Amino acid sequence: MQKVIYFDNNATTFVAPEAMEEMLPFFKTRYGNPSSMHEFGGENKKYVDKARQQIADLIGANSKEIIFTSCGTESDNTAIWSALQTNPQKRRIVTTKVEHPAVFETCKWWEGQGYEVTFLPVDEQGNLNLHDVDDAIKKDTALVSVMWANNETGVIFPVEQIAKMAKDKGVLFHTDAVQAVGKLPVNLKNSSIDMLSVSGHKLHAPKGVGMLYVREGTKFESFMKGGHQELARRAGTENLAYIAGFGKACELAVAKVEKENTYVKNMRDKLEKGIIEKISDVKINGDTKNRLPNTLNISFKYVEGESILLMLSEKGICASSGSACTSGSLEPSHILMAMKVPFEFAHGSIRFSLSIYNTEEEIDFVLKELPIIIERLRKISPFVKKDGK
Ligand code: PLP
Repeated sequence: MQKVIYFDNNATTFVAPEAMEEMLPFFKTRYGNPSSMHEFGGENKKYVDKARQQIADLIGANSKEIIFTSCGTESDNTAIWSALQTNPQKRRIVTTKVEHPAVFETCKWWEGQGYEVTFLPVDEQGNLNLHDVDDAIKKDTALVSVMWANNETGVIFPVEQIAKMAKDKGVLFHTDAVQAVGKLPVNLKNSSIDMLSVSGHKLHAPKGVGMLYVREGTKFESFMKGGHQELARRAGTENLAYIAGFGKACELAVAKVEKENTYVKNMRDKLEKGIIEKISDVKINGDTKNRLPNTLNISFKYVEGESILLMLSEKGICASSGSACTSGSLEPSHILMAMKVPFEFAHGSIRFSLSIYNTEEEIDFVLKELPIIIERLRKISPFVKKDGK
């Protein structure tokens, strides 16, 4: 296999070697069930508690407020489920048009069950209008769910301000912080946020583990029914190894956040500047002053994002496209559509998402190969001819 240059860290990340080390004993020798009466199993509970503390430390929470789940999607579904079950008299949800499907599709499903859902619009930069947000929150709203940072553009929402608006009206606030935690400083100590979702595999833990933060005192109804694990808040035998790896990755992330905002951001900025200098007719998608430090979403006029991705992939470069998706549809992403990115740009969008494991040499390699790829694709593009170029 050729060397992989991995610029798709918003999709998933490499498991940190330290996290892997932490996990191995649970596959080999320490396989007991933490709920068992015998010591061999029961002593594993302390490793679950250790991870719970490591995660709480990363987000300024109390360890009791952390509920382990199987992924970010389960955490999002649980938060929405719990808010609706514990407020049966309230029939409204407020969310945005640019949420990840884990929230967006779930809210659409609840809409089909008779809930009134407001999907808030964004402007061309991907930002929300806070007056719209405030207007949409009514006293009979059960939940406001607004993501912390967008997975495709990296645009950051002022979740603390929105949480405060919800709190003032006695409404629960949840944030999908899957792309934010590990990349931005998060401190829930004096926050108005009631629930927050995190996924392990976006911050160098393995796929298949996540957590939901539920502020102490928040009414909660479990989504997974069964045993009494997680203080009866999430049934199912704990995924010990993955929980231990997740805990370690969070401990590493405490030190890494600063590097995200210096080392990673500098590399992202170099990539962005280099592309703009070397390639004509490009457009950055999302507010460049209010973005995750690792994300660059950029469109190339006259070419299809998928063709760029395939040619990058031939060079071992992994990125992702915001247009055609796994469903095989050729529609641009709902996020770029909500931002009203013009059709000819939306189809040629690419997301590069970096991590602390990337290097400047890798950026130089992309800056060498990408202009050649775009030139080649534009030569055969029917859109260029139509435009008379
Ligand atoms: N929310 C956001 C913003 C995401 O980017 C993702 C994954 O891409 C998820 C939720 C879902 O997380 P998971 O893959 O752990 O279910």
